[in-house]
Amino acid sequence: MPFKFEVLKTDPSGARLGRMTTPHGVIETPAFMPVGTAGTVKGLTQQALEQLGVGMLLANTYHLYLRPGHELIARLGGLHRFMSWQGAILTDSGGFQVFSLADLRKVGDEGVHFRSHLDGSAHLLTPEKAIEVQRALGSDIGMVLDECIEYPADRERTRGAAARTLDWARRSRSLLDNIGLGSFDVGAGSDPGTESAKICNPEQVFFGIVQGGTFPDLRRENACRLVELGFPGYAVGGLAVGEPHELTCEAATAAVEELPGDKPRYLMGVGKPEQIVDFVRCGIDMMDCVLPTRNARNGCLYTRQGPLHIKNARYAGDSRPIDETCGCMVCMRYSRAYLRHLFQANEILAAVLNTHHNVHFFLDLMRAIREAIAFGSLSRFSSELQARLETGQS
Ligand SMILES: [Zn+2]
Repeated sequence: MPFKFEVLKTDPSGARLGRMTTPHGVIETPAFMPVGTAGTVKGLTQQALEQLGVGMLLANTYHLYLRPGHELIARLGGLHRFMSWQGAILTDSGGFQVFSLADLRKVGDEGVHFRSHLDGSAHLLTPEKAIEVQRALGSDIGMVLDECIEYPADRERTRGAAARTLDWARRSRSLLDNIGLGSFDVGAGSDPGTESAKICNPEQVFFGIVQGGTFPDLRRENACRLVELGFPGYAVGGLAVGEPHELTCEAATAAVEELPGDKPRYLMGVGKPEQIVDFVRCGIDMMDCVLPTRNARNGCLYTRQGPLHIKNARYAGDSRPIDETCGCMVCMRYSRAYLRHLFQANEILAAVLNTHHNVHFFLDLMRAIREAIAFGSLSRFSSELQARLETGQS
C-alpha cells in the first residue's frame, strides 16, 4: 500500500478528520503515537499495543542506530520484523536526541558531530546519514534531519537554525530523488561476512520539518520554502521545549497556514491531554509524546477529572478503578488500592498496568476528538473537557 492521506472533514476551527494509508495499515487522524524509543513502548507488549488499538508508534533513530545498530536491524528484515510489529512505525531523524546531548555535540553545515551517551564513541549525523539509517530501519514514515534549538533562543539564532534546516531539507530531498527505490544498498561493505541488506520498506516516505522557534514570521517563511521542495507530509518541530502553551499554538498555526491542505501535519513531541484539542484545532493531524508512558512509570495516571497520583496515601484503601468511566483492561479489573500497593512495592506490574491505562486514555481521547469533529461538536467538546479538567483531582 503506497502512502496516501485524505481529509474527510474539516471543522470551522481548522481541525481535520482524516485517513492516512501507510504500508502497515490505515490510521485515522488526528492520531496520537505512543513513543517506542528503543523499539519497544516501555511496559507494553506488542500484543497489548494491538489490543489498545495503536495504529502507529514512534521509534527513535538515535537509540536504534547506537544499539543494536541499523545495519543489524536491516539484516534481520527491518524494524517491523525485528520487533514483531505489523502496525505502522514513524521514526525521527535522530536529530532531537543528538541536539539534547548539550556537551557531547558540535553542529556545522555538514551535520552534527556527537559522542554516544553509551560509550563515548564519535559519530557524524548528516542529513544523508539520517536517511540511510531510517531506510535501513524501514519505518513507514521517516523524518529529514533538522536543527533543533533550545528555548528561549533569540531571533538571529532561530533564523540561522531555520536556514540550516532548510538547507538540510534540500540535501535530503535531492538524495531521496536520486535514490531510485531498491538501489540503496544499506549496510553493504560494512559487514562483509553477511549478505548486504535489502530495502525493508520500499514504500517508505520522508516528511520535511518546519523550524523557526516561537517567531510566527520565521515559521511562515520556513514553511513556505520547505513546501517548495515538495514532501508527502510536514512536521512542525522545535516546539514543546519549555515555551508557554499559547506560543506553541501561535507558532504551530503560523506554520500550518503555509502548509498544503492535502498533506498531513505532525506536531512533534506534544502534548498534555488538555492541550491536544488545541493542537487539533490548529489543524494538526499527528502527535507523539512520552507523557502517557513516562508518567505511568512515575505513578501519574490520567483520568477524565485530571491526573491522579497513585502513590498518594488516600488511595491505600480505595477499591474503585483508576477512572470509573474508563473501559480499559486495567480499570475493568484492578483497584486503586492494588495499583498503589504495586507502585509502593516497586513491582514491575505497576509500570505495565499504569502504562496500559495511560496509553488507553490518550487513544480514547483521540477517538473522542475524531468523533466530535465528525459530528461537528468539537468546540463544545473542547470547552467541556477544559471545564472537567479544571475541577480536577490529584
Ligand atoms: Zn483505564
